[in-house]
Amino acid sequence: MDNTGVLIILSGFAGSGKGTIIRELLGRYDNYALSVSATTRSPREGEEEGVHYFFKTEDEFKQMIAKGELLEYANYVGNYYGTPREYVKQQLASGKDVILEIETEGALNIKREYPDAILVFVMPPSVEEIHNRLLRRGTETEEIIEKRMQKAGFEITVVDRYDYLMVNDVLEESVELFNSIVKCQHMAVSRNRDYIEDKKREFEEYLSAKKEK
Ligand code: 5GP
Repeated sequence: MDNTGVLIILSGFAGSGKGTIIRELLGRYDNYALSVSATTRSPREGEEEGVHYFFKTEDEFKQMIAKGELLEYANYVGNYYGTPREYVKQQLASGKDVILEIETEGALNIKREYPDAILVFVMPPSVEEIHNRLLRRGTETEEIIEKRMQKAGFEITVVDRYDYLMVNDVLEESVELFNSIVKCQHMAVSRNRDYIEDKKREFEEYLSAKKEK
């Protein structure tokens, strides 16, 4: 069977709990690698360079685009966000299942380059929870929160182009469901064409050897 990793894209609104799902997966299983994005957004309190994001100036970010160093990028509420290409390629080749936590525009662009990538959208149990979570976090101004809510209203309109939808009600269930989706994807026929061709050849050899006897 194919032993390269699966590329999994996880999108969802603030308050959906996608970050917690990812932390749990990384803590529980050793087959996952999380891609760290580059962004022009300023760090929030507690965010570390190279752990949460690679923090870039707009010029630095544009250079990364020009050099083809990003697998995808998008502008989200006034800041650029992008996925460094090399890390993803290396990890997939080494057999790791790579998680990208990115917004919808970038996610849909990735699907063009990696048709076998799986797109999962995580929803919080209610729309109010999105707003409440942004308020509770207290890291954004009222104006930015409003812009993020408008963006969320747009993002919900493209969710029908995703592969899976997950309502994150019970964390434990979401983590295990997510892990099952990835396991199933490893068995997708589209990922295992070479394996199938090998088996066809084996059968042909077996059957022609029988005939000769
Ligand atoms: P935040 O500012 O809250 O950390 O992230 C804002 C949005 O940008 C979230 O929806 C997050 O998933 C998304 N995002 C983070 N990194 C990337 C990236 O590399 N590419 C894209 N397209 N979106 C990203």
